[in-house]
Amino acid sequence: MNFKSLPQMLDYFKDEETCIKYYEQMRWKGNPVCPHCKAEKPYKTNRGYKCSSSDCYKKFTVKVGTIFHNSKIPMRTWFVALFLTTHKKGISSVQLAVDIGVTQATAWFMLHRLRKMYKAKVEEQLGKDKVVEIDETHIGGKEKNRHWKKRRSKVNEELARDGTIYNKKKVVVGIIERSGQVVLKYFPNPQAKSISPFIQETVKNGSDIMTDESVLYYSYKTTALGGG
Ligand SMILES: [Zn+2]
Repeated sequence: MNFKSLPQMLDYFKDEETCIKYYEQMRWKGNPVCPHCKAEKPYKTNRGYKCSSSDCYKKFTVKVGTIFHNSKIPMRTWFVALFLTTHKKGISSVQLAVDIGVTQATAWFMLHRLRKMYKAKVEEQLGKDKVVEIDETHIGGKEKNRHWKKRRSKVNEELARDGTIYNKKKVVVGIIERSGQVVLKYFPNPQAKSISPFIQETVKNGSDIMTDESVLYYSYKTTALGGG
């Protein structure tokens, strides 16, 4: 979900049907799968789907097996809660209840499920007790390979520690799990404040991180590892 504001999101998700269609596309990408037996090509019913496998024949909707299952809460309300919880971490059930117009018990239930979902996402991150290396490659070569006259000055490096880099260069940041996966992201305007979120969402919290002493990771290392 990439909506910039709540009104923009609410305009898009104007009714339940739109929300369901959106979520079906997101989850199945046009190819519905039975959540009970994983069979493809189910029959369409007026309220969802019916499995076409003769061993199963179970009815289902896109909500089965997700955090939206078994609740009477409209998808639109769920999506607003998702929007609010991603933009404001640590929102209380009392506050969420007021914001989305549900009882506090419902808000509590929703937060519980949303947290489960966020936690499941973290488990898919890199790391998992492995060493993770973070490296940046400047387009046009690494800083240390540049002629000394073209390197960032010491003064600029000091200034960069508060998140501003004066000698702006385009960089690709690579996060590499030792004997594992690689994630690359291109930063046209590299700053600690734009790269930190990328590291935090890609690397599991508490992983051992190896990196050169680039100022770009300075703020991350000090907050996540207690001193860089
Ligand atoms: Zn089935």
